[in-house]
Parts: sequence; C-alpha cells; structure tokens
Amino acid sequence: MITRLLALVALLLAAPAVAQDQADQPPLTVQVLRTSEGSLHVNSALIMGEREAVLVDPPFTLADAHRVTGMVLDSGKTLTHIFITHDHPDHFFAMEVLADAFPDAEIVAHETVVADIWRSLPFKVARWSPGLGDNGPVHPTAPAALESDVIMLEGHELRVLGPMQGDHHHSTALWVPEIRALLPGDLAFNEVHLWLGEHTPEQVAAWRASMDELMALDADIVVAGHARPGLPDDASSLTFTASYLDAWPGFVAASSSAAEMQQMVREAFPTTIDVLDNFILVNSTEVAKGEQPIWEE
Ligand SMILES: [Zn+2]
Repeated sequence: MITRLLALVALLLAAPAVAQDQADQPPLTVQVLRTSEGSLHVNSALIMGEREAVLVDPPFTLADAHRVTGMVLDSGKTLTHIFITHDHPDHFFAMEVLADAFPDAEIVAHETVVADIWRSLPFKVARWSPGLGDNGPVHPTAPAALESDVIMLEGHELRVLGPMQGDHHHSTALWVPEIRALLPGDLAFNEVHLWLGEHTPEQVAAWRASMDELMALDADIVVAGHARPGLPDDASSLTFTASYLDAWPGFVAASSSAAEMQQMVREAFPTTIDVLDNFILVNSTEVAKGEQPIWEE
C-alpha cells in the first residue's frame, strides 16, 4: 500500500514536470535566405524544430543553392524534407546541390507540381541553361509526389495548400498553423514586379481570389516567393500582391502599348524592382497588351 502511495505521489510530482517540458519546447522557427538577383531574389526558407528542419524552395542558381546549404548546415538541424511550391525553375532548378549535401532529405511537392515539372523540364532546361552557364543544373530532375497534404516536422503539422492560381496556375503554399507562418511561394511577391506572363485576364482575377484565401489565414509570418531585399517576412507581401493585382486590369485598359503600360506600373509602384534586365515587367505587359503570345510553361 505504501509502495502504491509512493508511486502515486511520484506520478503526481512527475506529471507537472512533463507538462512543463512540453511548454518549454521551443516553438518552430523560420529562417530565410534571400538569394541574389541571379536567383531572381527568390526566398529559400528553413522551418526548424528542435532537431529537424524542412526547407521550402531551393533557389535558381547552383551558387545560391550552396549558400542555402550553408544556412542548413549552420542551423545544426537534420534536413528531413525539401518542399517545392511550384513548377518554375527559380524554385527548384538548383536542387541537385541540396540533394548531394543532404542525401537523406526527401525532395517533395504536390503531385500536380511533380507532373508539371516532368512535363516541362526539357524545354525549361533548353530555355534557361544557356543564360545560367555553370550556374545551371548539371542533372536536372524532379521532386517526388507527396502522398498527403501534410508534412510532419517533429510532430508539428505543415499543411500543403492548393494547387491554386498564383504566378503559376498550379501554385501551392505551405501553412504552419502552430506559428501562423505562411510559405506561399509565388502566390506572394513583395515589391518585386509580379510575373503575369502566363495569364489571361481571368487568371489574373483568379490569382486575386487566391489572395483573399491566403489573407483570411491571418498569418504572422509570410515568406514571399520573391522580395525586394530588406523587407520583413510579414503580411505586407500579401497586401502588396493583392493591390498590384487590383491595379493591373486598369493599366491594361488605360494603356495603348506595353511600353506605356510599363511606365504606368512603375509610377504606381515606384519602389518595386525587377530582375534580369526588366524581364518580369516587360514580358508581363507585352502579354497583357497582346504584343507577344502567352508564355508557355
Ligand atoms: Zn518565382
């Protein structure tokens, strides 16, 4: 009897200690590597638990992938997954560097994104490799398809949202409810011109509708797919993207040429930057004004 009582006392004393341990567990944290203009200022994000981590979006150039490798190594965490948000080369082209550095990490994406990448990889490599030179992939490949919409990180849920319309018609995002962190890939830009080279007017409106869904999450942390260096990782990228998409149809209607439309967009968003010698705004406005066909992806 005394033994049982002692056991009960021990249990009661131990119980709060266990609860306390759980409360003391550091929450998930997010670290972001802002890549160079060569990688179109893509953000690569590391979601970290106590011992393990998940990386979102490898960059475009091999050089930036080595920098991302350094961030992962410096974190001291074991990389379990590399998640790719969508089929644009600036979000997966350099993944071979990370695959070599972290061979036990699973490289994954939504099954639709995987199918998109396999379909378009040959012409993407042909299109981008000459410009990338030694910074381009040597062994281009695709991620594996996720079997569920959840990636577990030490018991914490990372939820895949989408596919939905973003700068790609099959864009996905990662949502970490416990810390209200949103990794939206190219559903959100921050003071970088939006890529609208693959969009009919209906798809521009559909992207705007996706923003309402994402803003309703009320995220505290938002890591935009592309951001002007120096900006915070917060919901300002969602409001920037929404206001840019709200304004776009008006610029299309009010301009007589792509060149005139570019001027209007730059005046309305004076601190917003472009990459690769005005690649984004020139192509997006030329598509909007019918001066070149809709970009094939
Ligand atoms: Zn991108």
